[in-house]
Amino acid sequence: MKISERLMRAKPSATLAVNAKAQELRAQGREIVSLAVGEPDFQTPEHVCEALKKAVDEGFTRYTPVPGIPELRKAVAGYYERFYGVKAEADNTIISNGGKHSLYNLFMALIDPGDEVLIPAPYWVSYPPMVELAEGKAVIVPTTAESGFLASVEDLEAACTPKTKVLVLNTPSNPTGGHYPQAHLDEIAQWAKSRGIFIISDEVYDRLVYEPADYSTLSGFWEKNQDNVAIVGALSKSFCMTGWRVGTTLAHPDLVKAMVKIQGQSTSNVNSMTQKAAVAAYEGPWDLIDTMKESFLRRRDIAYDIISSWPGVVCPKPDGAFYLFPVLDKFFDEETPDSASMCTKILEEAGIALVPGSAFGDDRCIRFSYAVDDEVLKSSLEKVGNVLMKK
Ligand code: PLP
Repeated sequence: MKISERLMRAKPSATLAVNAKAQELRAQGREIVSLAVGEPDFQTPEHVCEALKKAVDEGFTRYTPVPGIPELRKAVAGYYERFYGVKAEADNTIISNGGKHSLYNLFMALIDPGDEVLIPAPYWVSYPPMVELAEGKAVIVPTTAESGFLASVEDLEAACTPKTKVLVLNTPSNPTGGHYPQAHLDEIAQWAKSRGIFIISDEVYDRLVYEPADYSTLSGFWEKNQDNVAIVGALSKSFCMTGWRVGTTLAHPDLVKAMVKIQGQSTSNVNSMTQKAAVAAYEGPWDLIDTMKESFLRRRDIAYDIISSWPGVVCPKPDGAFYLFPVLDKFFDEETPDSASMCTKILEEAGIALVPGSAFGDDRCIRFSYAVDDEVLKSSLEKVGNVLMKK
């Protein structure tokens, strides 16, 4: 048997690999704390779980329309009106199997072989492999810690060629927690439009922005420029629904139709009962988000204070999501020359799982998730500091 060249070139997900390694050590009896998690440590709201049970009891267990049940598509459109004052219709939306699937469908719908896709680094792990699976070329645009890991128009312009078709923006960012202010997003959007570049705006963490920073989105730009941008959302992070797999796309109806074609020939609809639960999530109440934000803000400050006290570390203070992405290469040496070997050393010596920056396109850094209990966070970071400073 020969696996396709296309697939042989694709890398497996590094974040999932780290979690698997941590689980393996746990199975051997080691006590491992994971600061590698990419999901909130809160439970899915009760009213959402109840809506799923009701759907089962009522026998709502059959195929649904491929892009989702009309009430859910309407609820997604309503989300953009409620939070961003943007008018959208149900046929501007499609429900997919998590934000990841929404992104995959978008790349498949937009990219022809050889098309170039600008991806500011550090980037979410799956963008480059998805572009490659669609037979496009991922063009990585480096950013600096000093800029908060945000790309400027100049950075993007320098990487642009006549083959550039798509730009991927992610705010707030996984892995950096960096958050583009609205004016910065708008400036990039205007530039992309002038260059005929389509933007995929990954906003799956959009509810997790910490004051004094304000929410930002390209949905307002989308309302007037539906040919130039698509917005990806998800219930995974904001509603603690990672396992439920609800991703959303806000796009021009023609692009939605193209995605429906892909989805109709591959996965069909998202689980019918989950769709009913998703409607309940969009209807509210939304108080879980405030509770989560309060905890995440407190934990961000705990983690930031400890990490930035390590000598020689450069750590931008992030405004969103639940990650910190410090530059730690001052601690690299012959035995641990890169982020992967440093993560292995920390896992083995301190029992703390982290994700190497190489997975996100910056090998000087390590990603720390603070979606864990305050005391666990403090004690784990102290242990990591001890390994780095060889105490
Ligand atoms: N985009 C970013 C930036 C993410 O961090 C993730 C998940 O980690 C996703 C998309 C995919 O989200 P989902 O779990 O809804 O597929």
